[in-house]
Amino acid sequence: ARDAMEPVDEAELAIEGALRPGSLDEFVGQMKVRGQLQLLLDAAAIQGRSADHILLAGPPGLGKTTLAMIVAHESGRPLRMSSGPAIQHAGDLAALLSSLTPGEVLFIDEIHRMARSAEEMLYLAMEDFRIDIMVGKGAGATSIPLELAPFTLVGATTRSGLLPNPLRDRFGFTGHLEFYDEGELEQVIARSALVLGVDLPSDSLSEIARRSRGTPRIANRLLRRVRDYALVHGGGAASLSGVRAALELYDVDPIGLDRLDRAVLDALVRRFRGGPVGLSTLAVAVGEEAETVESVVEPYLVRIGFLGRTPRGRVAMPEAFAHLGLAHQAEGGL
Ligand code: ADP
Repeated sequence: ARDAMEPVDEAELAIEGALRPGSLDEFVGQMKVRGQLQLLLDAAAIQGRSADHILLAGPPGLGKTTLAMIVAHESGRPLRMSSGPAIQHAGDLAALLSSLTPGEVLFIDEIHRMARSAEEMLYLAMEDFRIDIMVGKGAGATSIPLELAPFTLVGATTRSGLLPNPLRDRFGFTGHLEFYDEGELEQVIARSALVLGVDLPSDSLSEIARRSRGTPRIANRLLRRVRDYALVHGGGAASLSGVRAALELYDVDPIGLDRLDRAVLDALVRRFRGGPVGLSTLAVAVGEEAETVESVVEPYLVRIGFLGRTPRGRVAMPEAFAHLGLAHQAEGGL
């Protein structure tokens, strides 16, 4: 998805890789999902078979890709990575599936964006480890069945509601990732600071955690900007005032909202007087795609009680008015 928080270049991607925890034990928070995954993997290990298919759902940057890597690592199996947008035709999926080695873990990121024709092929593959390949066209077309090696599919999606039911039903388990609390983010940041060699006093650590939007990827990104700032201005020491100056420079507000978050809030509160307003209207007002607003911006605003989703549209909560320094003036919008 177009995501304001995605890594922007190769160097950032490499650093993100270095910061990834390598085992379930190192993975911070998400106790529920970790426990669920652990049981699934242990049971598969006892029987010496591939683990059931796993769907991971939640906003970007909460650890879905990391968990897929951990699933492969902990079960001692190779990992193949792909994504929904890369699977445009059933043929793309057939090529991918038929090249898997026995027991391989197949990760499909943004699985809700896969082509429809591929989805249908995937149902059969997940259930019976078999696909039907169509050969020829028109009246002469025939389908040739092809046996596949058993595999574990790990699908990730920011929008589990967008997956067709038959696909959702074929996963043995769906893990819903939640936003992280400040204590958990502090653990993520402390670990990353060690890896990056940043000397971070505890007040600085808490300040970054508070402004990370509940999201480890953002925590790691802010930490890197703080590190830059400390290198340039602070002789390497990331003081609290340095943290604040660095985050201000990058438009991260005191509660961690970024430019797009504030643009959405501002449109909702000022332009649409608190709503209700439809998602697509709101998205047009801030010049973003509806999917980005819905899956990247809204979940956190809902989580902190700034925005409500109602059948009549999006509404601003009193806290949102207060954050923008305005009196609450919704007229029966709730
Ligand atoms: P997603 O696939 O959900 O978008 P990723 O798995 O790519 O998220 O995680 C983004 C970054 O955040 C990774 O660099 C990873 O190091 C870090 N991260 C995510 N979850 C955790 C966690 N629970 N503990 C430590 N770091 C995490």
